[in-house]
Formats: sequence, C-alpha cells, structure tokens
Amino acid sequence: MENEMRNGCSNSLVQEAGAASKSGQACMEAVERHVLHTYNRYPIVFARGEGVYLYDTEGKQYLDFASGIGVQALGYGNSELNAAIKQQVDLLMHTSNLFYNLPTASAAARAAAASGMERVFFTNSGTEAIEGVIKAARKYAFVRDGHADHEIIAMENSFHGRSMGALSVTGNPHYQEAFQPLLPGIRFARMNDLASVEAQITEKTCAILLETVQGEGGIYPAEAEFLQGVRRLCDQKELLLILDEIQCGMGRCGEMFAWQHYGVKPDLMACAKAIGSGVPVGAFFLTEQVAAQSLAPGDHGSTYGGNPLVGAAVDKVFEIFERDKICDHVKEISAYLEQRLDELEQECPCITGRRGLGLMQGLVLSQPVAEVVKEALKQGLIVITAGGNVLRLLPPLVIEREHVDEMIEKLKHVLTSCDA
Ligand SMILES: *Cc1c(COP(=O)(O)O)cnc(C)c1O
Repeated sequence: MENEMRNGCSNSLVQEAGAASKSGQACMEAVERHVLHTYNRYPIVFARGEGVYLYDTEGKQYLDFASGIGVQALGYGNSELNAAIKQQVDLLMHTSNLFYNLPTASAAARAAAASGMERVFFTNSGTEAIEGVIKAARKYAFVRDGHADHEIIAMENSFHGRSMGALSVTGNPHYQEAFQPLLPGIRFARMNDLASVEAQITEKTCAILLETVQGEGGIYPAEAEFLQGVRRLCDQKELLLILDEIQCGMGRCGEMFAWQHYGVKPDLMACAKAIGSGVPVGAFFLTEQVAAQSLAPGDHGSTYGGNPLVGAAVDKVFEIFERDKICDHVKEISAYLEQRLDELEQECPCITGRRGLGLMQGLVLSQPVAEVVKEALKQGLIVITAGGNVLRLLPPLVIEREHVDEMIEKLKHVLTSCDA
C-alpha cells in the first residue's frame, strides 16, 4: 500500500502490466512491422517504473543508469510530479499560444529565476530548442546590421538534434551526409581548442554554439579555460554565446545549468530532456538584452509549445528541484560515484579512462562498448553508449549510495567477465 502511494501506480495498473507480459513478444513484432526502422532496439519491453528501477513485461527489474537518455531526472513514479500532471490533465491540457495559461506562467518565472536569463520560449523537444536559438541568433544579428548572411560556429563531434537546422550545426558528417544541402553559413571548430574557434571567426560570424558538456560525442566537458576564452572572444567580437544544455543542464552536472560551474553566462541557451522529467518539452532561453533585439511577434511560434500540460510539469519540476535541493544532492552523490568509478577503473584493465561532470559520466573502454551494454542488461543494469568506445552513465538525479554500489557491483561483473 505504501508503495502504491509513492508510486502513484494502482494495483490494477500493475496487473495490466503483468498481463502485457504475454504480449511482450507481440509488442516487439508489431513495432518491427509498423514503426519506421530508425532505431535498433534492445529486445526489452518496459511496462512500469518505480524510483530508479524499471520493470519489463516479464517482471524483471533493471537498475536504470540511463534515465531515458537523461530525461527522468526525478526517477519514475514521483508521486508529486505525477499528481501535478494528472490534475492538469483534468483541468486543461491545451489552449494554443493565442491565450495565456496559468501553469506555464509560473514555469517561465521559475525557469528565469533558475537561469538568470529573463526570457524563455517553450518547445516540444531539444531539436526545436536548437532551431529556436539559431533563429534568435540570426535575427539578432540581422536587426543589428541589416545583413542576412550571418555565420554560426559550432563544434566538431557535437550533437544538437535531428531536424535540418540542428543537423546543420551537428559536427558529425555521418549524420549529415545523406541530407545535404544543409543550412549554409555553419563553420566547425574543435571543442577545447580556442585557437581553432578563433580561426573560424569572420566578419559574418554572429554566434558560437557548443554543448557545455558534449554528450553523444563521448562525454567531453568544456575545459574552464576554453569556455571562458570563448566567452571572452564573444564579448570582444560582439558575438552571441549559445550553450546547448539539453543533456548537461537541469542539475545533471551539479548546478542547475552546467555553465554555472564555469563563471560564464551564455546569451542563449537550449534546454530539454530533464526539464519535463518525462513530459516531452524543451525550451530556449534568452537574456533580456538579446530578446529585446531578436524574435518578435510573427517571427516564431509553436502550436503546442508551453501548453498547460507541459507547463504544469515544468513548474513542478523546478519547484521540486529548488525545495529538495536536487543540485546539492547531485554534488554529493556524484563525488561518491566518481570515487567508485575510479576504484573500478583500477580493478578493470578494460577501462582506460573516465570523463564527466556530476552525474554525466563516461567510461572509456578498450573493448566494444555495445557488447558491454547488452551484457549489463542481462544483469539488470541499464547503461548506454556515447561515441564508439564510451560507456555513458546518466542516472536519475535522485540515486542514493546504495544504487551506486549496486551499479558498480553489476558493472564489475560484466567487465571482468568481458575481460576474460
Ligand atoms: C538529446 C539532445 C538534443 C536533441 O534533443 P531531442 O529532444 O532529441 O530533439 C540536442 N542536443 C543535445 C546535447 C542532446 O543531448
């Protein structure tokens, strides 16, 4: 009963999930038959989640150190978040942006307070938040000099999303190849190589875009000197600094936004993933100074963007983060995670390095990481990859020491048996 309350999950729902176990195979078959094959999925159908654990249709338990690619910051079945969403479903889900709505007003105020960036535009995904910052940067530059051929510098090895604009700034030729021509006016520099950024600046440059911590590319945090140097370049040359905090933001790295570690502040920021902690929503943020000379009525929009349903989720997520001091918890627990990972590295010769910030950690492996992920799943542990040889850990931010210990035990088992 206590579980039921915490979980917000009624017995009948659990029974239904149980009944679905018979149809797990049918589910996979239907997906493979009818859903466009853009993902190679693991042969697991998840039926429910509780805390930091997921359960498949067979009832098998998995410790989740991926949190739906950094989305489920508060874990599964957070009763308070779920109640806020359910309540909003009954009150009002959607009105369009032709009108005001209460929960999104509160969410926007909390987002502004948490970031110190006065303006926010809600989107439905990360890639749309990137589209927004690209448009905002181009408009800002256009307003200032009347030219419409501005350039943006992005980083090699980056990931910003799958829509055409976001793909254009994603520094991975493999993702781009078949979809040319992409946006013109994008130049690439190397992360953590300030000279390479400086070398790409022309009289047409309007912005520099980077992930504060590169995620998909293999967990590469910006070095402090580099990020501070980019900020300085932006100030000197009057360029906008755009940070993609879609994966590394929202407490993931121990501050509400990863840039808060560095003593720099962006002019524009893209956010998504954990900001709705399970509800599909993104956002881009602008300082007042940029907003005042950028997107104006008629320049941008979204039918769903920031509707009451997602507004209620974002509002509650920020409220819980502040009240429960989630960032302080991340700082504390990530120190323990790093310590345990470093010990594991000593014990397992196949681990050749560790990179990361807070609860965004990557282990560099000398063996095929895809095999390790599959073996971990057999052990009831969910981890994911980043790049070719990096094992990526993005646990829910609410993990405790016991979960770190359990993960280490399982991973040790996987890595030592792989070593043999
Ligand atoms: C996931 C991600 C995106 C894209 O977000 P979607 O919601 O999948 O469109 C963009 N940038 C970074 C850094 C990401 O991790």
